[in-house]
Amino acid sequence: MLVIEGRAFLDGRIEPRAIGVDDGKIVAIKKGLRGDPVYRYGDALILPGGIDVHVHFREPGMTEKEDFSSGTESAVAGGVTTVVDMPNTKPPVSTPEALRTKARLVSRSANVDFGLYAAPASAKDVDPLREATAFKMYLAETPNAPVIPSFQVAGEILAATAGLGPHVTAHCEDSRLFGKGIATSLEEHHRIRNPRAEVSAVQELGKHRGSVPLHIAHATTREAVRARPPGTTCEVTPHHLLLDTTSTLGARAKVNPPLRSPTERTDLWQAVLDKEVDMFASDHAPHTLDEKSVRFEDAPVGVPGVATTFPLLFRYVRRQVLPLDRFVSMFAGAPAKLLGVNKGAIEVGRDADLVVVDPRRIEKITAARCRYKCGWTPFEGVEGTFPIATFVRGQLVAQEGELVTERVGRMIPTRQS
Ligand SMILES: [Zn+2]
Repeated sequence: MLVIEGRAFLDGRIEPRAIGVDDGKIVAIKKGLRGDPVYRYGDALILPGGIDVHVHFREPGMTEKEDFSSGTESAVAGGVTTVVDMPNTKPPVSTPEALRTKARLVSRSANVDFGLYAAPASAKDVDPLREATAFKMYLAETPNAPVIPSFQVAGEILAATAGLGPHVTAHCEDSRLFGKGIATSLEEHHRIRNPRAEVSAVQELGKHRGSVPLHIAHATTREAVRARPPGTTCEVTPHHLLLDTTSTLGARAKVNPPLRSPTERTDLWQAVLDKEVDMFASDHAPHTLDEKSVRFEDAPVGVPGVATTFPLLFRYVRRQVLPLDRFVSMFAGAPAKLLGVNKGAIEVGRDADLVVVDPRRIEKITAARCRYKCGWTPFEGVEGTFPIATFVRGQLVAQEGELVTERVGRMIPTRQS
C-alpha cells in the first residue's frame, strides 16, 4: 500500500490524514498508516483531482495546435486528473469508426484519465455512438463539427439519448438572434453573438429536454444560468469569469460564446458564489500564435485553459472570496457526478486522483509553466497557485511542475443507465 500524507479535504473538513492507496483506489484514511512508499506533504492540502469536462486536444487532425500527450501534460500541471475531449477533431467524432479510432489513438499517449464526446448529426446517429462518454450538440456554427440545423432536430437527438446513460452537452447559441455584420473587436463580437441568443437557445432546448440528462456548456451570463430547466447542469469557464470585452488581448481572446461586458462578468461571478453554477470547465481550445496573430475577423475562436483553472481560481479560495468546499465541488465533485465516475472526492473506494497544493505558494502563470504546446496563455504574468504534486489513481504523475510518470491515462467507463 502506498501512503500520501497531508491535510486532506474530507467532505468539507480539512484534517491531517494519511491516505492509503492500493491498486489505484483509496483503501484507508487514517491519522497514521504504514506503507511503502510514503509521500509526506506536511501541512500542504490534499484535494480531489480536477475533472475538466470540456477540452479540445485537437487530435487527430490538428496536432500543430495540441495533441493528447501535450494536452494531458498541461492538465497534470494544472491539477486536472480527468478530461473529456470534444468531438470536433479531424475527422469529427460522428461515427462509431471515428470514435473507436480516436479512443485507440489517444489511449497510447494520455497522461490523465479521459472521456470522449461524440457529435451525432441527427437522431439516427445516437445509438451507434452509445460507447461515447457523452454527446455534444453544437447549436451554432463551429469548425469541424456537425451543426444541429434546428431545435426540432436537437429535440429528436435528446429523445434518442433517453435511457442510454451518457449525458448531452449543448453549446447554446441561437443563430437566428445573431446581429448582422462581421465583428472586428471583442465588443462587436459580443454584440453580434449576443447574450439573448444564448438565453434563447437554452430556453428552446429546455422545451425539448424531457427526462434526458442535459448539460449546458460555457454559460456566459447569469441569465443563461437561470434560463436552464430544473435538473439541468451547467459549467462556466475561467475566461468568462476573469476576462471581458475590455480586455486588450483582441483576437487572442476571441472565443464562442464571446466574452461579455464587465457587468455581465461580475454577475456571472455572483451566480458562482450563490451556488447557481454546477462546475468549472476550461473549454481549452488552443490555436498557434501565428493563427491568432491576424485581424480579429480572421482569427479562429478559442483560448488555451486546461492548466490555469486551478491556479487562477485557487487565488479566490486563498483570498476567501470562493469557499474551498465550493471550489472543490465545482472543480471535482460535480463533474464526477455528471460523468457517473468513481472520482471527485477523497473517500474510501474512490480512485486516488489527488492534487497537493501549498496555499502559501504564489507563482506567475506562464505558457511554459502550463506546458502549452501552443506557446501562449491569455493569463501570462497573472499570479496563481499551481499544485505541487498530482496523482492519477495513486500514481505520482507530476511533482513541482515536472512530469515524472507518463501515459498512465485510461478511458473512463461509459455511464450505463
Ligand atoms: Zn468548446
